Amino acid sequence: KRIKNAEFVISNTDYRKSPETDLPEYAFIGRSNVGKSSLINMLTDRKNLAKTSSKPGKTQLINHFLMDEKWYLVDLPGYGYAKVSKKTNEGWGKMISDYLKNRENLVCIFVLIDSRLPPQKADVEFLDFIGKNGLPLSLIFTKADKQSNNKTQQNIAVFKKKMLNTWEEFPPYFVSSAEKQTGKEEILGIIDQMNTA
Ligand code: GDP
Repeated sequence: KRIKNAEFVISNTDYRKSPETDLPEYAFIGRSNVGKSSLINMLTDRKNLAKTSSKPGKTQLINHFLMDEKWYLVDLPGYGYAKVSKKTNEGWGKMISDYLKNRENLVCIFVLIDSRLPPQKADVEFLDFIGKNGLPLSLIFTKADKQSNNKTQQNIAVFKKKMLNTWEEFPPYFVSSAEKQTGKEEILGIIDQMNTA
């Protein structure tokens, strides 16, 4: 699977200024530094479509990209960056939550989780928000090249156990590595399926 034409459309702080469209839309979000830009660049075969930044928490916008004129990929700001003031974080919180709760063509939210780490508070809180609002969710465990497959599976099992304390079921999930270019087929595959569903 390949995206032939990935095109930046617009960046906003207000979801109501997002493109007017009936095309399906998929949002990508996670803690700052989780590997979101790298994943988006892998999915689109582009080196620098989403800007990888050394400054965590830099992207503070809702970024719309159009894929093959068929669907929108939305790059959302990273959350949970400790050094950003609480007030700023809440500002993003509202921007993001307004978008997620109200964007009508939003088909699925891909939440990126660092596959190396035990469950992080910021992730658990964000997933609580998704759960409480009944929003459609898939998980992507990133940076899988950083440890053995066994360790990745162990970490996913721990994450699953934690989530099942509050969730009835574990959402669909994917494992990716931008470094090794893995997970791309699976993620583009499910988007394809959802696009034609
Ligand atoms: P973002 O802040 O979520 O957009 O994260 P970036 O894509 O900018 O990545 C943050 C850091 O993690 C960078 O130093 C990347 O090179 C590194 N990184 C991202 N994805 C991977 C991966 O799959 N494997 C490894 N080993 N490093 C990664």
